[in-house]
Amino acid sequence: MDYFRSVAGIPKRQLKNVRNVLTRRPLTSPSLGSVTLDQDDIDLARAALRDRSRWYEPEETATYEEAFARWNGSKAAFALMGGRVALSACLHALGLKEGDEVIVPGYTCVVVANAFLFAGVKAVYSDIELESYGLDADPLEKKITSRTRAVVVQHLYGLVSRDYEAVIDLARRKGLFVIEDCAHATGAEFKGIKVGNCGDVAIYSGEQSKVFTTIHGGFAVANDESLIKGLRAYKEKAPYPDETWIERQLHTVILNYYLFKHPQRWWRGDLARIMHGRYRVGPLVGDEMRGVQPEHYGRKMPAPIAAIGMNQLGKIDEYNERRRRNAERWHRWCDENGYKRPLVIEGSVPVYLRYPVLVEPEKKQDFSWAKKTLNVTPGVWYESHIHPTERPVEGCPNADKAIKSCINFPCLLD
Ligand SMILES: *Cc1c(COP(=O)(O)O)cnc(C)c1O
Repeated sequence: MDYFRSVAGIPKRQLKNVRNVLTRRPLTSPSLGSVTLDQDDIDLARAALRDRSRWYEPEETATYEEAFARWNGSKAAFALMGGRVALSACLHALGLKEGDEVIVPGYTCVVVANAFLFAGVKAVYSDIELESYGLDADPLEKKITSRTRAVVVQHLYGLVSRDYEAVIDLARRKGLFVIEDCAHATGAEFKGIKVGNCGDVAIYSGEQSKVFTTIHGGFAVANDESLIKGLRAYKEKAPYPDETWIERQLHTVILNYYLFKHPQRWWRGDLARIMHGRYRVGPLVGDEMRGVQPEHYGRKMPAPIAAIGMNQLGKIDEYNERRRRNAERWHRWCDENGYKRPLVIEGSVPVYLRYPVLVEPEKKQDFSWAKKTLNVTPGVWYESHIHPTERPVEGCPNADKAIKSCINFPCLLD
């Protein structure tokens, strides 16, 4: 159905291109996702599709895990099929069980909420601050009960969370674990250390909209031996995705390169839709929207996905550096238009997955102004507390405000 709809849209899109040529408007604008995919990544995807003989050999994934752990400054990293699965691995490693409570920012992605739901652990939502959109340390203390076991620190948009130290201090005083959600912030640093290494366990994401991508994929890391053992146990139990899933994911690498990155994506994208569109894997499945554990959940990463991840890891520093350079454009835009720049806390190096700005709610509802004046289509993370679902979260006024007003600009501008 999706495939049919996307192919059926080709005439309309190409007509618009003709109009853009005639009126001398640009044919492409910067994409928000899959922007670190290049020709070398799709070459790897094509090679893997030609030869399936080593799809389930563990060496390539082990190499990727070691390389990531080394690059990230962590003792161990475990490659799973998503940051969400990595979070499930963390809950397992921390020994969290039914009835336990974890404090989670009330401004997050549904897959985070689901990992708790699937484990029977209660997520207690607490408000964020509006400078870096992380968990606000202030209202946090009142959320702690005798059942609280952990706190989630979330580094959004590639910024290091403003209250990083304060939240960790509080958690240490109260005897709580700290889970770091670095899904947006792979490579960001605080005081010379990559985020994810100050708490107890951390997750990173290589999903299609993140700092690096294998379409689906991510890591769980830890530095403490007993937690490493817990993560390893989860991974060893986890099955690989089946061949059909891997095949679809490899096709999606190729598809997304042509849709979002290729310089001539205005027409190559449509061609790729015809060739690869029917294999596409999206960011979420319907079960996840409904809070039901999908059948393919909880998988570990197979070799061909790890091979692309290795290639992505080799480019991540350069792409993050480009994001930081491009953020200058948005700094200037904020200064010139009377908006506040996001906060970069002292001692931190952000990676600017996206550049978040609080604008007037009307400008979030309808951002045709941005396309017209800036040739970008901003992102809308997040449009609800448990994005993109409408699951209710009460008592988070700052999150309410971000939902109405926070848009984000792309930071890779090709
Ligand atoms: C994307 C994301 C995740 C999960 O990562 P996946 O790799 O997509 O499973 C977790 N937390 C946040 C804040 C995210 O945006």
